[in-house]
Amino acid sequence: MQIGRWNHQSAGASGGPARPSHSGGHSKYSKNPQRGGFRSARPYGRPQRSFVPKRRGGFGSFGETEAEIQKFMNKTVVTTEEPVFVPEHKFSDFDIGEHLKKNVMAKKYESPTPIQDKIIPHVLLGQDVVGLAETGTGKTAAFLIPLIDKVMKQKGERILIMAPTRELAVQIEKELAGFARGLGFRGMVAVGGANIGPQISQLKHSPAFVIGTPGRLKDLMERKSLNLSGFGTVVLDEADRMLDMGFIDDMRMILSKMRKERHTLFFSATMGKDIQKLIGDFLDHPVVISVKRRDTPSSVDQDVVRIPRGKDKFEVLADMLKNREFSRVLVFGRTKYGVEKLAKALSRLHIHAESIHGNKTQGARQRALEAFKSGRVSALVATDVAARGLDIPAVSHVINYDLPSTYEDYIHRIGRTGRAALKGKALTFVQDR
Ligand code: AMP
Repeated sequence: MQIGRWNHQSAGASGGPARPSHSGGHSKYSKNPQRGGFRSARPYGRPQRSFVPKRRGGFGSFGETEAEIQKFMNKTVVTTEEPVFVPEHKFSDFDIGEHLKKNVMAKKYESPTPIQDKIIPHVLLGQDVVGLAETGTGKTAAFLIPLIDKVMKQKGERILIMAPTRELAVQIEKELAGFARGLGFRGMVAVGGANIGPQISQLKHSPAFVIGTPGRLKDLMERKSLNLSGFGTVVLDEADRMLDMGFIDDMRMILSKMRKERHTLFFSATMGKDIQKLIGDFLDHPVVISVKRRDTPSSVDQDVVRIPRGKDKFEVLADMLKNREFSRVLVFGRTKYGVEKLAKALSRLHIHAESIHGNKTQGARQRALEAFKSGRVSALVATDVAARGLDIPAVSHVINYDLPSTYEDYIHRIGRTGRAALKGKALTFVQDR
């Protein structure tokens, strides 16, 4: 099946062929098809040369050519009415425990999302599944709900969840805690960047769910704190990203230490050759469910901001962020160093900004994320890796301050806005040469 977001807007609603500019056509940030069309209100001090790449977007970026730049705009989207998704099931239909059902209701989830609707029945039957779905589709609950039920019904069942980033692991655990309230079992997070001691102590209590990143899981196994022989179920979340991040050997090693006849759930946004190989090697006749409809989220209004030659894009960004319309903005940079520097430079201009990247400790990353979620800071500057899988409600804008490396990265970036029923805006800075 191929179904879009469960409560998507039609492509028409998010900007048809003659889509107005993202700010009604009057903003000074309106992308101007003529080069040099950007008008800056006023300069902010000395140009910060370190933020200007030598070539457009830096080395190996997507968006080097005009044809690629066109992909950052959705003006040419054909207006089509997407059918409203009608789920086959209600949560009350699923064969899951009453207490768990109540916890799901308490989360105010009215009906299952497409991935939940299709996958939950198969997972409840113990079948291996492949879910081709991105963050934002409700995939986390699609595996957590049936697996919590499994833990309740099969005494001693233990579940391993592997995720590419610390933030995603923490997010999964939070969602688990909500669904599992009052059910009497534990889950724990085993990620790097955090002290390993408390994780070792938690493992001594044999938690039913262990949610971790491959590197730390391997470390815990090598220290003999984590023994996977008792785990009958494994979830690989965002498997494609784990491959991109070079976790393939760790993933294979970890899976090889689990029982052969295990229950395997596999989630990925893409289905490349490596992913297919991994599925072939580790899953048993899986049911494949895809909820990807098209590669550009239709609820995201996309455009480019041309930075005229000689103009410093930092000034453009700072100017933009001072506008009230830019209330909760995720800014993407290429490097950990650049991201850190950018957040500091914005803060110096009294623009409340935080950064999130791999050089920060888990605690610092979590604090930055919470500050952004709560609205204490209006801009979060992130690298692609750190932002992957983050569930941040109501991001008003995604700004690609540095070009993404690939179109796929671009799609992941802009997927941070326009989530659920909200309409988001994505702006990509393109430096004129
Ligand atoms: P995920 O794709 O798992 O990251 O989920 C994206 C967001 O959708 C999270 O904030 C979930 O809490 C939310 N969500 C998941 N399932 C549902 C549902 N059935 N109804 C409403 N919201 C949901």
